[in-house]
Amino acid sequence: MTDNHLTIALAGNPNSGKTSIFNAITGTRQKVGNWAGVTVEKKEGFIEHKGRKIKLVDLPGIYSLTPFSIEEVVTRNYLIDETPDVVIDIIDSTNLERALYLALQIRELDLKVVFALNMADILENKDIYIDDSKLSELLALPIVFTIGNRGEGMTELLDESVNLALHGKKAGDERKVKYSSEIEKSIGRVSDSIKDLIPENSRYSLRWTSVRLLENDRPVFEQVDSFKPNFDLKALVKQERQRLRTFYNDEPELVMTDERYGFIEGIIREVLHTPLTARVDISRKIDSVLTNRFLGLPIFAFFIWFMFQATFTLGQYPMDWLERFVVFSSEILTKIIPDGILQSLVVDGVISGVGGVLVFLPNILILFFCIALFEDTGYMARAAFLMDKVMHSIGLHGKSFIPMLMGFGCNVPAIMAARTLENDRDRILTILITPFMSCSARLPVYIILAGTFFPDKAGNIIFLLYLTGILVAFGSGKLFRATILRGEEAPFVMELPPYRVPMLKSLLIHMWDRSKIFLKKMGGVILAGSILVWVLSYFPQETNYSKDYDSMIVKLSEQIDIKEKSGLSSETENLYSRIRHLESERKKESAENSYLGRLGNFVSPVFEPIGIDWRGSIALITGFVAKEIVISTMGVLYGVDSGEEDSGGMGAALKRSGMTPLSALSMMVFVLLYLPCLAAIAAVKQESGSLKWTLFSIFYTTFVAWSFSFTVYQVGTLLQKVA
Ligand code: GDP
Ligand code: MG
Repeated sequence: MTDNHLTIALAGNPNSGKTSIFNAITGTRQKVGNWAGVTVEKKEGFIEHKGRKIKLVDLPGIYSLTPFSIEEVVTRNYLIDETPDVVIDIIDSTNLERALYLALQIRELDLKVVFALNMADILENKDIYIDDSKLSELLALPIVFTIGNRGEGMTELLDESVNLALHGKKAGDERKVKYSSEIEKSIGRVSDSIKDLIPENSRYSLRWTSVRLLENDRPVFEQVDSFKPNFDLKALVKQERQRLRTFYNDEPELVMTDERYGFIEGIIREVLHTPLTARVDISRKIDSVLTNRFLGLPIFAFFIWFMFQATFTLGQYPMDWLERFVVFSSEILTKIIPDGILQSLVVDGVISGVGGVLVFLPNILILFFCIALFEDTGYMARAAFLMDKVMHSIGLHGKSFIPMLMGFGCNVPAIMAARTLENDRDRILTILITPFMSCSARLPVYIILAGTFFPDKAGNIIFLLYLTGILVAFGSGKLFRATILRGEEAPFVMELPPYRVPMLKSLLIHMWDRSKIFLKKMGGVILAGSILVWVLSYFPQETNYSKDYDSMIVKLSEQIDIKEKSGLSSETENLYSRIRHLESERKKESAENSYLGRLGNFVSPVFEPIGIDWRGSIALITGFVAKEIVISTMGVLYGVDSGEEDSGGMGAALKRSGMTPLSALSMMVFVLLYLPCLAAIAAVKQESGSLKWTLFSIFYTTFVAWSFSFTVYQVGTLLQKVA
């Protein structure tokens, strides 16, 4: 600085707006030349501000003060050798993190620095807020917001710069990057050793020089070495660098760069508020609990438990209403439609088939609502994160857990969700094990069978079934990884999106999108399946009954008539029940003689070892179309009186048929493990893109189902004999 003459340099990243600001301040009073010896353009401008002459220099744009590019060398040499009175660091505010890297290095040079937070207009547009007073306080320097291309903030920028040049002090070391203790120790040792080497009048800051030496900066080394050639600077630097290298097991300059970024990260967190970081901050707090090392999994388990609890208990009420509605409709239709084949088709086929499944719609809506809630809040990603370790045991990462979790709702969208896995092997593996996750369509089967045969333990039985499904999925995963799908797990970064308060509308849309699949199934496959099952069970009509049911029933009806006429209505109850019994027996005989019955007898050798009679076998076979049909088939086959499709009616019929708790358990296990439905098979085909894997999946799941049911039934039978 000569009396009245100040030098101000403009430094910053390329495209931060240096030239715009330079032009805005200097106008036409510019001198354009080249930097000595290189072809980098040098721009100087001369102005007067408040009676003070100022020389302004536009320095080449750079990202770092390392001496690698020509621009870096020019800028660095200028800053070190010319020591401008003030450096205006032009910062692209929308890129604060990157800009701070250079800013902190300039700061270490012991120069007086002013920050111009340029592009302030974009900040506003993007709803980003930078706490300038906090930043100013943290780094101990003046800050001015500017809009370079519109020349806004130039007066303030010059005011602050002149003020700093004339009255300000250089910032102390405490406002610079603090490195970790071992590095600070080395900085201290180098500083102590070279303190006396650097001449009094040198513009080299002691701390900066030491840092640069530890980072193996050639020019700085040569400069310092030239001060006193007889001092072994080389040995000193080498020894300290080696010490750090051993300590950190990495090159010192890499460690120091990391630490600078760590420092910047800290600053950013304090001063930068974007709509995103605000959410990210809250998310971090929530995550400290929800993904906590100890609490995370128990909390997750609680949510899952809660989800099923809500599905069952909350779903019970609308389910009862729907059930009453189904019973009511079949009663009405029985009255309206004359007795005969049409009535049977509508009531026994369509209503009992589709209606029997429709009653589970509320449970399914609730389940899908919960899953949508997990997804939309961002919790699903955390679940994946929590399960990551567990999933690694089968060579998958947490991301594969999302399809598995969704599988509790419906396997079809779950299998499709495996699409998010980039690696082929991971995707196939996930697709193969997802069907073992017990989908909502299997739930009605458990509710009826467990409710009938294990009334006190139904909840536990159902929970155990879900657990078995999960364990089989994991076991199969491990098996496949070790055999047919061997391979390294692909590295991947788990993204944790910020938590969001979900919008009810989007929750409902998500819930509805998935439930639609269920309803479509109802209108399509289940309706068709029910009708088919009805047709096969209704025909052929000619049966050689073992008894003359018709005349027996007519006789009983006559007796009822007589009693009622003589005012003895109270004694007719017994007769009515005998009629019902006969009708059900006739139905059973007719069913056994039907095409379905014959098919059942044909396949029964396969199902006999697992304790399932011909009717159960048929139900399981039709269940290949959709698991819901298992229930409607059982409804048709076990001779349930129409209109009593509720579990009580069905349960009683099952008991009458001679089904035991053990065979019920075996049946549930089979339903749990064999491939869910045609739609799921189609999904496997589509997502694996391979007929081979699709066939494998069908075969494997059926084989596993049979083996497990066999084990359950045979071991159970043995235990019963022993007991
Ligand atoms: P330099 O590379 O640092 O010299 O940057 P320039 O001055 O050449 O500017 C780069 C681009 O950013 C140009 O298109 C400018 O018009 C634009 N620019 C500079 N300052 C601002 C600002 O404050 N707001 C906006 N929106 N654009 C700016
Ligand atoms: Mg420029």
